[in-house]
Amino acid sequence: MAIDSLPPLRDVITTHDLRAKKSLGQNFLLDLNLTSKIARQAGDLTGHDILEIGPGPGGLTRGLLAEGARRVVALEKDARCMPALSEISDAYPGQLQVLNQDALTLDHAEYLTAPVRVVANLPYNVGTELLVRWLTPKDWPPFWDTLTLMFQKEVAQRIVATPGSKAYGRLAILAQWRCDARIAMTLPPEAFSPPPKIHSAVVHLTALPAPKFPADAKILSQTVAQAFNQRRKMLRASLKGLRPDIEDRIVAAGLKPTSRAEEISLEGFCALARQVAAD
Ligand code: SAM
Repeated sequence: MAIDSLPPLRDVITTHDLRAKKSLGQNFLLDLNLTSKIARQAGDLTGHDILEIGPGPGGLTRGLLAEGARRVVALEKDARCMPALSEISDAYPGQLQVLNQDALTLDHAEYLTAPVRVVANLPYNVGTELLVRWLTPKDWPPFWDTLTLMFQKEVAQRIVATPGSKAYGRLAILAQWRCDARIAMTLPPEAFSPPPKIHSAVVHLTALPAPKFPADAKILSQTVAQAFNQRRKMLRASLKGLRPDIEDRIVAAGLKPTSRAEEISLEGFCALARQVAAD
């Protein structure tokens, strides 16, 4: 069954000559039932403003609107997509605002009214950078309630990784310190046009009102980055230079100086960050 009265996405792409550009990370979703399913992973959309990055020809945008989003603000860098996106605005009067902007250069929060959900099939080249920005705002809670984001499967696994696994690192700590994070869906390459070489996954993150364990955000981020920078080294070596008496501080945090970063839980890193911050 059609989700709206607009033309099929293949026709939209032909009409507007939207040949995918690799440099912009363009792998389009053309099945509107699939884009509606992705939109539903974000939870109830009614009563929410949605921020979408990279709407492209508008498949996910249409899914979000068909699923009842109050308003969608969509940031697209590629000017070629504007006419196709205007047709969607016309079909949903007053509900879709499209900005022909680079998501990395715009303070998008100012266009949105709370509560906000972020939903996007992200361009792979800027996806991790945007995620880290959304996870490290000046103030917490952030401008968004949830993030529902498509990533390369390998990046999705790094976001939800647990200690002891190869994927566990800074991204897992950043994501899980102040959010609940889970993989909501995985998608094979054939779901996209053109198909990428890798599998993809949708990650759903829910912002918690407060961190799971107390720590200073900057010091936690710095400690974790340094620990994982040399992930095979023992903490007493990888964290050398962070503080002159780092070994005592590691012990005071209840950790072993001979442990390696990938063995340390989120709680352990927060305890360590508190010790690093102490006088
Ligand atoms: N949402 C569409 C879909 O699901 O079919 C397109 C997804 S495609 C993976 C990524 C989109 O992000 C492309 O339309 C691309 O032009 C756009 N894009 C790439 N870099 C961007 C940036 N820095 N800011 C905004 N959009 C960007």
